[in-house]
Amino acid sequence: MAGLPLDIVLLGAPGSGKGTQAERIAPAFAVPHISTGDILRDAVKGGTALGLAAKAFMDAGNLVPDEVVIGIIRERLTLPDTTAGFMLDGFPRTLEQAAALDEMLADAQRALRLVLLIDVPAEELVQRLAGRRACRACGRGYNVVFDPPRVVGVCDVCGGELFQRDDDNEATVRNRLAVYSRQTEPLIGYYRDQGILATVPGAGRDPDQVFADVQTLLAGAQRA
Ligand code: ADP
Ligand code: ZN
Repeated sequence: MAGLPLDIVLLGAPGSGKGTQAERIAPAFAVPHISTGDILRDAVKGGTALGLAAKAFMDAGNLVPDEVVIGIIRERLTLPDTTAGFMLDGFPRTLEQAAALDEMLADAQRALRLVLLIDVPAEELVQRLAGRRACRACGRGYNVVFDPPRVVGVCDVCGGELFQRDDDNEATVRNRLAVYSRQTEPLIGYYRDQGILATVPGAGRDPDQVFADVQTLLAGAQRA
């Protein structure tokens, strides 16, 4: 294994399958999966001050303010499990967040190794999001059309109950996609200019096929 930490970012629209890939990458490459969406949802569930501040933004499909999520990541990246690398999922989502991340990493004498874009055309995203379900107990994701559980409403892994996220209703989904194209898509050019962007086609293929590409790219970055 190379000496440099494997610091990576997963980029992709809501519904691109980012979270599904993240669940596979983390154990395969021994990096912690850091999802700002998961951290924020936990805060909402726990009724913390952060959760109370974030809930209205999330339910509407809008972004939580930059200073809030930048603070979350700044704190998270100081934990010792990130020493050998990390995988960010859902952060950065704005150019301001990306610049803040670059600065944090530079201060720690680190830099992103790879930004993986999972590329799915807009038309397919709405359909995917509407079918999305997750396990209440273990968090495993499913899709009623593309990746159904063996038994309707029940998690294959742990038998937990499947539910639909509050922000996967149609109006909020449409807004999340608009927010992505306006605020997050500019990051594609930002990272391409840095020479660290890699794109994986995410449409019309099952998660195993996408993961095969992802693995090849990450193994290359790990060796570099
Ligand atoms: P998805 O990628 O499926 O839309 P996430 O689970 O990543 O969902 O995020 C859910 C919500 O949490 C977002 O719609 C937004 O309100 C908030 N959120 C997550 N990450 C960020 C971030 N980096 N900046 C601002 N808001 C965020
Ligand atoms: Zn489960």
